Amino acid sequence: MAKLKLALYWAATCGGCEVAVLDLNEKILDVAAAADIYLWPVAMDYKYKDAEAWHDKFIDVCLFNGAIRNSEGEHLAKLLRAKSKVMVAFGSCACFGGIPGLANVADREGVFARVYGETPSTDNSDGTRPQTSFTVPEGELTLPYFYDTVKTLGQTVPVDYFLPGCPPVTKQIWAVVQAIVAGQLPPPGSFVGVAEKSVCEECPRVKEEKKVTAFVRPHQVIPQPEKCLLEQGLICCGPATRGGCGAQCVNANMPCRGCYGPTERVTDQGAKMLSAIASIIDATDEAGVKKVVDQIVDPLGTFYRFGLPNSLLTRVRV
Ligand code: SF4
Repeated sequence: MAKLKLALYWAATCGGCEVAVLDLNEKILDVAAAADIYLWPVAMDYKYKDAEAWHDKFIDVCLFNGAIRNSEGEHLAKLLRAKSKVMVAFGSCACFGGIPGLANVADREGVFARVYGETPSTDNSDGTRPQTSFTVPEGELTLPYFYDTVKTLGQTVPVDYFLPGCPPVTKQIWAVVQAIVAGQLPPPGSFVGVAEKSVCEECPRVKEEKKVTAFVRPHQVIPQPEKCLLEQGLICCGPATRGGCGAQCVNANMPCRGCYGPTERVTDQGAKMLSAIASIIDATDEAGVKKVVDQIVDPLGTFYRFGLPNSLLTRVRV
């Protein structure tokens, strides 16, 4: 059987998805036996012009991680879409925007003002900013253009499959690799490496439908190990989040952060979490509700941590 042609690319991402692939450990040898890797910038010295020279659909499967933050990410998304038979949004940044998508609280000017001017460690009295083109004696240097808004891969090019997680858990990556090799992928447009259930439904903790009068952050308490974290006042995104991770965070006594994105039944993960939170607040009047809600630090970063670009909001107006 001919070996699969595989490409792996990273756009706006932390690199955790790349590490998750390496976490396959010795199974990476099985991947190498079944597939030839033609592009993997984090591990191999291929040039973009190599990819530009391929004929269309030359690659069988492209695992694309990272959100689309700048012109380079967009160019590679379009290029690899054209060159690949199957495009997989790999990881939560590609699927939903991920942590880089939280930059949608500002625009390009807002991000640059903060990063190149206001941060305490910045000494930039000349107000120097990155330029897309700069001429030096040796020639012209170029940088990608930084966009106002972070987009998901699916908002940029058609995507065949979505494999979420920050990063996707190794067991699920391996299951998807095996499905690819066996040609047993579900219909295009599907989420793969996930469960039908929510994280709450995978979670072994006891839920007693208790109300809360205060919210706390994980560093402020040592939670009871068997009781629902939300009912202990910790914001746990399990009710709004797609399972498949094995409830790893809650099993480690940490609240679910929501990285697998909204469940099939949920359109907007943050709105669903607001609804879940509203249902457990123990207060009888508006002032009481406000007092409890005011204890939630960074609501947007908590409820839309991995999916602001993919949400109904997509970004904050500036
Ligand atoms: Fe488990 Fe969190 Fe759901 Fe509670 S809210 S049942 S801790 S996943």
